[in-house]
Amino acid sequence: MTHLTLQAVTKRFNAAYAVDHVDLSVPDGKLVCFLGPSGCGKTTLLRMIAGLETPSSGSVNFAGRDITHLPANRRDFGMVFQSLALFPHMTVAENVAYPLRLRKTDKAAQSRRVTELLELIQLPHMANRPVTQLSGGQRQRVAIARAIASQPKLLLLDEPLSALDAKLREAMQVEIRLLQQRLGITTIMVTHDQREAMTMADEIVVMEKGRIAQVGKPLDIYRDPVSEFVADFIGLGNILPVTHDGQGGVSLPGGQQIVVTQPERVTQATSDVRLLIRPEDVCVKAASADAGPNRLSGTVTFIRDVGASLEATIDCSGFSLTVATTSRETPGLALGMPVLAELPAHACKLVAARQTY
Ligand code: ATP
Repeated sequence: MTHLTLQAVTKRFNAAYAVDHVDLSVPDGKLVCFLGPSGCGKTTLLRMIAGLETPSSGSVNFAGRDITHLPANRRDFGMVFQSLALFPHMTVAENVAYPLRLRKTDKAAQSRRVTELLELIQLPHMANRPVTQLSGGQRQRVAIARAIASQPKLLLLDEPLSALDAKLREAMQVEIRLLQQRLGITTIMVTHDQREAMTMADEIVVMEKGRIAQVGKPLDIYRDPVSEFVADFIGLGNILPVTHDGQGGVSLPGGQQIVVTQPERVTQATSDVRLLIRPEDVCVKAASADAGPNRLSGTVTFIRDVGASLEATIDCSGFSLTVATTSRETPGLALGMPVLAELPAHACKLVAARQTY
């Protein structure tokens, strides 16, 4: 069942479009990430869903009801923002109980719910501690417990992990995801961190300049981006300028022909195309191997071997390729070594070149 539907939602600040005709359906129980560079409109879109901002046009529907103009405090959505906004003079338990107090839930029920929530966030022993005496990760968990205390039908998270250091951030990503799955609560999270979105989301909404560039499951977007912008924003990739060779393939700047087997989204009519190949899809072979189709000669100009993974750069005169492999998979790779880099046809994707404005 689709819980939340946005229809042509638009927000203008003076003449500038922060959000430009966004259509979106968020299915029940899923975690959806709004992902995109700074200023692309993620927060403004989330704030319109929350009721903190009114759309200039378009409509927001939730559970079959038009809520476009319903005030935020009547939407019953849970929210966690970057700043968390916990009450510093209150204990952990008082913070978590706050929305229940506002709703005048009876004391015994409040206390039961707080106990249950503190168990859920694994801080049952910290109920009476002032929130000022918690670590960043613990504060984060309390903010989430407070946001879900009154069993909201939708949880909205705006960069909730941005203040945490990298290690804690990764741990919290997994924790929030497990919690969300256990509770089955429909959640929308804003982030500009593609790894975070890939780790947590059922669906990613990639935004560019107020519009949706692509919606899909994380791996589908990674494997099959619709444009150079999306390809570049999601994960690492080799993105090479190419031209159609008139025979269904493409040519690299040096004239080398590349066979591409993907069903053509980018047709020959699309003149400005790029070839995307992910670093883990490039196969490195000895320079003495047969120079077959899609094999390019080059020289190894950089190697970073950290045991679990090996990253290398291969200079192919005119452009370079980043390769992700392991020293077990590609033994004996050395700086200055001549090699053949194979770009398997099935892994080569053609995407429309980024628009320049
Ligand atoms: P970030 O990742 O930096 O938070 P974002 O993708 O969330 O960015 P928004 O905060 O939604 O982007 O902003 C989208 C655009 O709208 C930006 O150009 C921003 O300057 C503009 N904007 C946002 N809020 C206002 C406002 N209250 N008044 C005028 N312009 C605004």
